[in-house]
Amino acid sequence: MQVILEVDKCIGSGSCEMLAPEVFRVGESGLAELLDASPGSDMESQCRAAEESCPTQAIQIEV
Ligand code: SF4
Repeated sequence: MQVILEVDKCIGSGSCEMLAPEVFRVGESGLAELLDASPGSDMESQCRAAEESCPTQAIQIEV
């Protein structure tokens, strides 16, 4: 699974970090960072939740 984060769309809401903390982190810049761009399939439901929760559609999941 690939996680794509378009940082230029991020507004730092933090919902991705809350829903999938092993994959996303809101860094000191106040914007999201990827901790793991290719997490295992066991993380799919959390990553999908983060994708759906992002207010600016900055996250894409590709399986
Ligand atoms: S949910 Fe979207 S806008 Fe919010 S911190 Fe994550 S990537 Fe940024």
